[in-house]
Amino acid sequence: LYDRDGWIWQDGEWLAWREATTHLLSHTLHYGMGCFEGVRAYAGAKGTHLFRAAEHTRRLLDSAHSLDMPLAWDAATLIEAQRECLQRNQLSNAYLKPTVFFGAEGLGLRAKGLTTHVMIAAWDLGDYLDPRAARVGLRALTSSWARHHVNISLCRAKTNGHYVNSILALNTAVKAGFDETIMLDPEGYVAEASAANVFLLRDGVLHTPEVTSCLQGITRDSVIQLARRELGLEVGERRITRDELYTADEAFLTGTAAEILPLRELDGRRIGARGADANQALEEIDPESVTARLQGLYRRLTRGELAGYEAWLTPVTQS
Ligand code: PMP
Repeated sequence: LYDRDGWIWQDGEWLAWREATTHLLSHTLHYGMGCFEGVRAYAGAKGTHLFRAAEHTRRLLDSAHSLDMPLAWDAATLIEAQRECLQRNQLSNAYLKPTVFFGAEGLGLRAKGLTTHVMIAAWDLGDYLDPRAARVGLRALTSSWARHHVNISLCRAKTNGHYVNSILALNTAVKAGFDETIMLDPEGYVAEASAANVFLLRDGVLHTPEVTSCLQGITRDSVIQLARRELGLEVGERRITRDELYTADEAFLTGTAAEILPLRELDGRRIGARGADANQALEEIDPESVTARLQGLYRRLTRGELAGYEAWLTPVTQS
């Protein structure tokens, strides 16, 4: 990841990729106190655009404010830096990672006078996403690790340190041969996957966990709006138990990088296929399913092909 050409924005300046380093005593490296975003850009018919940059940037500013990390940059400046980051690096289908972190002015929990830095790096998503995963979906294991609790951390903030918990849960599931994990909140209700929100469909109604332990995902919001406006579906945000996922007609995960991925199996139970043998390979999902229809709508939405959602696109280059 280090040895390549390109430009990274930090605190208002453009650094050559290879020289974009930070000091070993940077506070965030030691305690995980920082926040970040994952933003996507897409090549559409009218050129490259950022998708929902305003919402991602607002969540970054909200995260930093909640963590009490004062930022010197406003949303407009940060969005402009994201645009320029794509232009300078000549990227279109890309992933951007704006990150807020503390400098090395002091170590220890009581450190004072720490500088809050912001960086924005972007890279081509390339084959990070296996196109087959979107059609076939994932097999998941419920985690023995609980997700965060609102009285343990700030669950709405996308905090670096939160991801220790995500990685512990994901690694346990992957080592046991699964693709993903479903994490429960400390009371045992469904929270989210390692880095994605979760939805289930039952009797034509979509349900997703309320935002307590899970991140307030921006894809989650896009999907709720698409489901209501384009498919006329009812969507409920409420507490969900793991057996509701087992017995759902359909289930899927949502996230900026993952987009919409079918959740096909949880703890050896095939979702929407009662009695199916979990040892059999997964078949592709029904193109008429709600999951597949939402995937199609989301694809058109992010490529700028769906009328009425232009406000969610920030043009980067015109073609
Ligand atoms: N939950 C977690 C823990 C995540 O890391 C992500 C990815 N940012 C999501 C949910 C999905 O959020 P979004 O749709 O905003 O990418």
